[in-house]
Amino acid sequence: MTETSTAALPDPAPGAIALVAHDRQKPNLAAWVAAHADVLRNRPIVATATTGATIKDFCPELQITTVASGPLGGDQQIGAMIVEGRVTALVFFPDPMTPMPHDVDVKALLRIALVRDIPCAFNRRSADLLMRSGYFQESQPAPTEPGS
Ligand code: PGA
Repeated sequence: MTETSTAALPDPAPGAIALVAHDRQKPNLAAWVAAHADVLRNRPIVATATTGATIKDFCPELQITTVASGPLGGDQQIGAMIVEGRVTALVFFPDPMTPMPHDVDVKALLRIALVRDIPCAFNRRSADLLMRSGYFQESQPAPTEPGS
Protein backbone atom coordinates (compact mmCIF):
# COMPACT_ATOMS: atom_id res chain seq x y z
CA MET A 1 0.00 0.00 0.00
CA THR A 2 1.42 3.36 -1.05
CA GLU A 3 0.72 6.51 0.94
CA THR A 4 -0.99 9.23 -1.06
CA SER A 5 -1.94 12.82 -0.49
CA THR A 6 -5.49 13.95 0.07
CA ALA A 7 -5.40 16.14 -3.04
CA ALA A 8 -8.48 16.61 -5.21
CA LEU A 9 -9.58 13.76 -7.43
CA PRO A 10 -7.27 13.56 -10.46
CA ASP A 11 -8.83 14.32 -13.81
CA PRO A 12 -7.83 11.75 -16.45
CA ALA A 13 -8.95 12.38 -20.02
CA PRO A 14 -12.38 10.92 -20.90
CA GLY A 15 -12.27 7.33 -22.06
CA ALA A 16 -9.65 6.25 -19.55
CA ILE A 17 -8.90 2.63 -18.80
CA ALA A 18 -8.72 1.86 -15.08
CA LEU A 19 -6.04 -0.62 -14.00
CA VAL A 20 -6.16 -2.17 -10.54
CA ALA A 21 -4.47 -5.29 -9.15
CA HIS A 22 -4.17 -6.80 -5.72
CA ASP A 23 -0.60 -7.34 -4.53
CA ARG A 24 -0.04 -10.89 -5.71
CA GLN A 25 -1.56 -10.03 -9.10
CA LYS A 26 0.42 -6.85 -9.74
CA PRO A 27 3.23 -8.56 -11.69
CA ASN A 28 0.60 -10.33 -13.78
CA LEU A 29 -1.18 -7.07 -14.64
CA ALA A 30 2.10 -5.25 -15.28
CA ALA A 31 3.16 -8.01 -17.68
CA TRP A 32 -0.18 -7.70 -19.50
CA VAL A 33 0.26 -3.95 -19.80
CA ALA A 34 3.83 -4.38 -21.07
CA ALA A 35 2.63 -6.86 -23.70
CA HIS A 36 0.10 -4.31 -24.97
CA ALA A 37 1.98 -1.08 -24.37
CA ASP A 38 1.76 -0.17 -28.06
CA VAL A 39 -2.04 0.12 -27.75
CA LEU A 40 -2.23 1.35 -24.18
CA ARG A 41 0.18 4.21 -24.71
CA ASN A 42 -2.51 5.85 -26.86
CA ARG A 43 -5.16 5.67 -24.15
CA PRO A 44 -5.54 7.60 -20.90
CA ILE A 45 -4.84 5.27 -17.99
CA VAL A 46 -5.82 5.65 -14.37
CA ALA A 47 -4.59 3.25 -11.68
CA THR A 48 -4.65 2.83 -7.95
CA ALA A 49 -1.41 4.04 -6.38
CA THR A 50 0.62 0.88 -5.92
CA THR A 51 -0.65 -0.74 -9.10
CA GLY A 52 0.32 2.39 -11.03
CA ALA A 53 3.79 2.45 -9.47
CA THR A 54 4.34 -1.23 -10.32
CA ILE A 55 3.26 -0.72 -13.93
CA LYS A 56 5.54 2.32 -14.20
CA ASP A 57 8.48 0.08 -13.23
CA PHE A 58 7.66 -2.21 -16.17
CA CYS A 59 6.61 0.51 -18.63
CA PRO A 60 8.16 3.88 -17.69
CA GLU A 61 6.99 5.41 -20.96
CA LEU A 62 3.28 5.12 -20.11
CA GLN A 63 1.40 8.13 -18.78
CA ILE A 64 -0.56 6.91 -15.78
CA THR A 65 -2.81 9.01 -13.58
CA THR A 66 -2.86 7.56 -10.09
CA VAL A 67 -5.46 7.80 -7.35
CA ALA A 68 -5.13 6.67 -3.74
CA SER A 69 -4.20 3.11 -2.92
CA GLY A 70 -7.19 0.77 -2.97
CA PRO A 71 -7.36 0.24 0.81
CA LEU A 72 -7.15 4.03 1.29
CA GLY A 73 -10.09 4.84 -1.00
CA GLY A 74 -8.63 4.45 -4.49
CA ASP A 75 -11.22 1.89 -5.53
CA GLN A 76 -13.92 4.36 -4.58
CA GLN A 77 -12.21 7.14 -6.53
CA ILE A 78 -12.16 4.95 -9.63
CA GLY A 79 -15.81 4.12 -9.01
CA ALA A 80 -16.59 7.85 -9.02
CA MET A 81 -14.73 8.22 -12.32
CA ILE A 82 -16.89 5.45 -13.80
CA VAL A 83 -20.01 7.31 -12.66
CA GLU A 84 -18.70 10.50 -14.24
CA GLY A 85 -18.01 8.71 -17.53
CA ARG A 86 -14.27 9.36 -17.41
CA VAL A 87 -13.37 5.69 -16.96
CA THR A 88 -14.89 3.52 -19.69
CA ALA A 89 -13.14 0.17 -19.08
CA LEU A 90 -11.90 -1.66 -16.00
CA VAL A 91 -9.04 -4.17 -16.00
CA PHE A 92 -8.91 -5.44 -12.44
CA PHE A 93 -6.91 -8.48 -11.37
CA PRO A 94 -8.09 -9.36 -7.85
CA ASP A 95 -6.41 -11.96 -5.66
CA PRO A 96 -9.08 -14.63 -5.20
CA MET A 97 -7.15 -16.41 -2.41
CA THR A 98 -6.51 -13.61 0.07
CA PRO A 99 -9.05 -11.81 2.28
CA MET A 100 -8.90 -8.03 1.80
CA PRO A 101 -9.58 -5.40 4.48
CA HIS A 102 -11.23 -3.25 1.81
CA ASP A 103 -13.47 -5.99 0.46
CA VAL A 104 -16.51 -3.71 0.61
CA ASP A 105 -14.72 -1.13 -1.57
CA VAL A 106 -13.83 -3.83 -4.10
CA LYS A 107 -17.44 -4.95 -4.16
CA ALA A 108 -18.63 -1.38 -4.65
CA LEU A 109 -16.21 -0.89 -7.56
CA LEU A 110 -17.42 -4.06 -9.26
CA ARG A 111 -21.03 -3.11 -8.65
CA ILE A 112 -20.76 0.34 -10.18
CA ALA A 113 -18.88 -1.09 -13.17
CA LEU A 114 -21.85 -3.44 -13.67
CA VAL A 115 -24.42 -0.70 -13.14
CA ARG A 116 -22.68 1.51 -15.71
CA ASP A 117 -22.16 -1.45 -18.05
CA ILE A 118 -18.53 -0.77 -18.84
CA PRO A 119 -16.33 -3.53 -20.29
CA CYS A 120 -14.41 -5.30 -17.52
CA ALA A 121 -11.72 -7.95 -17.36
CA PHE A 122 -10.74 -9.73 -14.16
CA ASN A 123 -7.95 -12.00 -15.31
CA ARG A 124 -5.28 -12.20 -18.00
CA ARG A 125 -7.28 -14.24 -20.49
CA SER A 126 -10.33 -12.01 -20.35
CA ALA A 127 -8.08 -8.94 -20.61
CA ASP A 128 -6.49 -10.48 -23.71
CA LEU A 129 -9.93 -11.09 -25.21
CA LEU A 130 -10.97 -7.51 -24.50
CA MET A 131 -7.73 -6.28 -26.06
CA ARG A 132 -8.31 -8.43 -29.15
CA SER A 133 -11.87 -7.12 -29.47
CA GLY A 134 -10.50 -3.79 -30.64
CA TYR A 135 -12.36 -1.90 -27.90
CA PHE A 136 -9.19 -0.22 -26.68
CA GLN A 137 -8.40 0.94 -30.19
CA GLU A 138 -11.85 2.49 -30.76
CA SER A 139 -13.11 5.86 -29.69
CA GLN A 140 -15.17 5.27 -26.60
CA PRO A 141 -18.97 5.27 -26.57
CA ALA A 142 -20.78 7.37 -24.00
CA PRO A 143 -21.31 5.40 -20.81
CA THR A 144 -24.66 3.75 -20.24
CA GLU A 145 -27.07 5.58 -17.99
CA PRO A 146 -28.54 3.36 -15.26
CA GLY A 147 -31.92 1.96 -16.29
CA SER A 148 -31.43 2.62 -20.01
P1 PGA B 1 -3.13 -0.58 -4.85
O1 PGA B 1 -4.67 -0.73 -4.62
O2 PGA B 1 -2.89 -0.57 -6.33
O3 PGA B 1 -2.73 0.71 -4.23
O4 PGA B 1 -2.49 -1.77 -4.21
C1 PGA B 1 -5.37 -1.76 -5.27
C2 PGA B 1 -6.27 -2.49 -4.32
O5 PGA B 1 -5.75 -3.13 -3.42
O6 PGA B 1 -7.51 -2.45 -4.47
